[in-house]
Amino acid sequence: MIYDVIIVGGGPSGMSAAIYASRARLKTLLIEKAGCGGQIAITDHLENYPGFEEGINGFELAMKMEKQARTFGCEIVYGEASAVETEDAIKKVVLSDNKEYFTKTVIIASGANFKKLAVGGEQEFIGKGVSYCATCDGPFFRNKEIAVVGGGDSALQEALYLTKFAAKVNLIHRRDQFRAAKILQEKVFAEPKINIIFDSVVEKISGNLTVEEITLKNVKNNISSQLAVNGIFVFVGWLPNTNFLNNTAIKLNEAGYIVTDDNMNTSVQGIFACGDVRQKLLRQVVTAAGDGAIAAISAQHFIEG
Ligand code: NAP
Repeated sequence: MIYDVIIVGGGPSGMSAAIYASRARLKTLLIEKAGCGGQIAITDHLENYPGFEEGINGFELAMKMEKQARTFGCEIVYGEASAVETEDAIKKVVLSDNKEYFTKTVIIASGANFKKLAVGGEQEFIGKGVSYCATCDGPFFRNKEIAVVGGGDSALQEALYLTKFAAKVNLIHRRDQFRAAKILQEKVFAEPKINIIFDSVVEKISGNLTVEEITLKNVKNNISSQLAVNGIFVFVGWLPNTNFLNNTAIKLNEAGYIVTDDNMNTSVQGIFACGDVRQKLLRQVVTAAGDGAIAAISAQHFIEG
């Protein structure tokens, strides 16, 4: 069996590529590690994806995209891509269980994984107060005091979401300005349950069986202090999922993101990349979906010569 297109990753960019490739009647396989949706599957509320004026739950949108891709004939296999062989005209995608799939083109839509703080106690208390997913763990912190770390869209959006549960949300950012969208900043500044702590980094997370306290350092005056919290949510950015491309000639930038042109071509012929895994200005569901559509049509043009 030789596919026309194999898409690695089932987030919005991968599923958009799957919809466009299948509608172009290309024999399409999508390989997804866990469940389709990627980051949106753990996002409570999306309010900037066109067509949903009151916003939409991320998981619900992901399910709709998956259903749409299957409707047009895309096959979906669950497994983790561990290697891609790109040298020959027929390319090979190998999964961690050693299954092999062959294809004329590959679309890399493997997204990115959350970054950790890399401080003492973080690893030890994962699932015991340290979390990277507000939708998954927010309800455990009803009427508790918690901390959220980060100053980007994720941190502010999730801090707002967590006010539904927590009694108080301490939003800790290492600078004195957020990088998040202004509309999110306005909402955060207006939310009485959010206490903003600027110019501070987390040095240590401590507790007995669960998180009880974090140590903060003010980066301007170097003074350390303790903050009693029951949980800490970390949203300090993402790292692209490109490890499985180590043995290829696909060009990455210094931060590890895949370099593409406007048509989603990577530096290797027949290999395309889309969504958060590629170097780009704006990482949003809408740009991921746009990337995926372009990648699929570029793959079609490549196959048709
Ligand atoms: P991000 O934009 O990269 O922001 C990461 C934040 O974490 C920054 O404020 C950064 O501080 C801080 N940070 C990084 N490393 C840190 C460390 N070691 N310790 C403490 N703080 C640290 O990441 P993101 O917020 O996850 O967003 C990722 C992408 O998804 C963005 O393109 C974003 O627009 C998009 N997104 C959009 C939405 C939406 O539209 N509603 C929602 C979520 C995400 P500095 O500012 O000082 O660098």
